[in-house]
Amino acid sequence: MSMEKKKDIVMSGIRPTGFLHLGNYFGAVRNYVRMQDSYTCYFMVADLHALTTLNETRELKGHVRRVMAENIACGLDPDKVAFYCQSHVPETAELYLLLNMLAYVGELEKTPTFKDKVRLQPQNVNAGLLTYPVLMAADILLHRATLVPVGKDQGQHLEIARDFASRFNGRYGEVFPEPYAFNFGEALAKVPSLDGAGKMSKSENQMATIYLADTDEAIRKKVAKAKTDSGGDPGSPMPESVANLFQLLQLVSGEDVVQKFTADYAAGTIRYGDMKKELAEGMVGFIGPIREKAEAIQNDDAYLRRVMEQGAEKARASAKVTIQLSKDAIGLSYI
Ligand code: ADP
Repeated sequence: MSMEKKKDIVMSGIRPTGFLHLGNYFGAVRNYVRMQDSYTCYFMVADLHALTTLNETRELKGHVRRVMAENIACGLDPDKVAFYCQSHVPETAELYLLLNMLAYVGELEKTPTFKDKVRLQPQNVNAGLLTYPVLMAADILLHRATLVPVGKDQGQHLEIARDFASRFNGRYGEVFPEPYAFNFGEALAKVPSLDGAGKMSKSENQMATIYLADTDEAIRKKVAKAKTDSGGDPGSPMPESVANLFQLLQLVSGEDVVQKFTADYAAGTIRYGDMKKELAEGMVGFIGPIREKAEAIQNDDAYLRRVMEQGAEKARASAKVTIQLSKDAIGLSYI
């Protein structure tokens, strides 16, 4: 008999609401790639989640294909993981319904991301927005995953998913292990935007976000426009805009480059123009090959179709087992 330990189960997703950016890469995709050899992984394109905010659903097809191509271009291997579209796995919706019976409207209304969305789109406060954390919990619990590689912005949703798991287990019987956000023992990543405040995001300021599809020229232009300080007194605390640039430099440039500019900053001799040039070239060198690979994959219809079909098949096999266990626990089994 094999003594091999059962691998931990990993689950995560990205919404197809626009091009992937550096935040998605360093917060999520990089970890997908790092985890794919040692864990049983389920990664999905969260197209149903996108419906809560996307008005023009005819854009979905292009977005889904691009997100898939970009993940693969970053190193995700569809033969090693289950890489699928959320809407290709209808068991997700079934578990979502079952979990909705355990979710309280009051707690959902208090979720900070719900409050943000209400502020952003007051004309479309749909019930899907309110129950977004329930659908996210369903995505994760569907595979009984325990490790969820996500950026810092998703930490709170994970807490909600854990609540639902333990509520379900407490009410009906033990089915779900508790899922935790995962980043190889490090703090969850938050990639800052270039405008000195907040995080990079698909939907917010495009000039402050570096996309994996950006041309070399676009990257250089965006970085050149990034906010810095106007010199300041040596020894005064580093403004957020500058700290953000250092954080980005750390991600795409060598340690020696970071050290040089850190020393220059401390000495009050830093030249932001030079620092930005280094940062831009670091990003160009990093993104160029990914962009080219993604374009080629995106144009390969037969390959993408195969990836989607193969992913859905693997995901549904795992999902069906969980749905059966859930129904049995609840008492929804009569024959
Ligand atoms: P977006 O916020 O750009 O719409 P999603 O909500 O689809 O992206 O998130 C996909 C993944 O990317 C999640 O794991 C999320 O935590 C991560 N992510 C998104 N933006 C950032 C960022 N600026 N820094 C770190 N991780 C991020």
